[in-house]
Amino acid sequence: MGKWRRRPHTSGMLAVVTGANRGLGLQVSRDLLALGYDVVLTARERAAGEQALRELGARAGAARSLVLDVSNPESVAGFARELSGGPAIDSLVNNAGASFDGFDENVAARTLDTNYRGAVRVTQALLPRLAPAANVVMVSSGMGELSRFSAALAKRVLDPALDAEGVELLAREFVQAVAQGRHLELGFPQNAYAVSKALLNAFTRALAREFGESGRRVNAVCPGWVRTRMGGSSAPRSLEQGARGITWAATLGPDGPNGGFFRDMRAISW
Ligand code: NDP
Repeated sequence: MGKWRRRPHTSGMLAVVTGANRGLGLQVSRDLLALGYDVVLTARERAAGEQALRELGARAGAARSLVLDVSNPESVAGFARELSGGPAIDSLVNNAGASFDGFDENVAARTLDTNYRGAVRVTQALLPRLAPAANVVMVSSGMGELSRFSAALAKRVLDPALDAEGVELLAREFVQAVAQGRHLELGFPQNAYAVSKALLNAFTRALAREFGESGRRVNAVCPGWVRTRMGGSSAPRSLEQGARGITWAATLGPDGPNGGFFRDMRAISW
């Protein structure tokens, strides 16, 4: 583990994990419960969330499941309403993600809407509910590394003046470029998943600057290649190995980093 320490007291702290009915989200929920957190796990289907709760066999009252489709703004707003009036959120893990077959304008739009915009929506809707020392985690991927982009475009994405609005403009630019068959010419890779994670990382940096010295932290984490429905059965990492770095970033103490990108608790390049 890196030089940063976990929060010393976790009992009764609240974590929210999106896309937690299976895969990494379910494992992170299990790990957070074991550390003493209360966990709200979200699932698109109510039945899938309830099944996940049964699988976790959590101590009474420690876990509950709520319905959330991150690509549906009404679902996100309804979810935020359900949490309003409750305790503040100490850890928000934006884990929900998808990878679609093929490559065209429609796939580009759907991928960005889930992996990048979904996390943005949920984070912005829950900002008023975040505890003063909350950890926000963006479950990202090394696939989003900017080495896949042209040098000129990578420079734009890394511009420290790029705010959340600027990231959104880049997202629209990508989908439009794909529709026009100009994405390669403009410096984007031919991979919507890679672009969605690169933009998620860019949003992470912008939000980290907004958080500043406030005490809140946001970091992006790559779990490595993990055996899940998305990762497939030939992936080298177990769920436990993949979830470890995500849980670490969700439980950082007051001296923890803000605005970094990590794999196995170590900083990696954007
Ligand atoms: P899984 O496919 O096993 O799980 C994905 C989860 O996200 C499911 O719970 C799924 O719900 C949910 N989800 C998908 N779309 C939405 C949506 N619109 N709204 C809400 N939930 C949604 O994949 P992983 O566990 O592997 O993936 C978790 C995260 O890790 C993703 O962000 C992924 O990009 C990232 N990651 C994974 C890697 C790997 O090797 N596995 C490598 C790098 C990053 P449902 O069951 O309803 O479909």
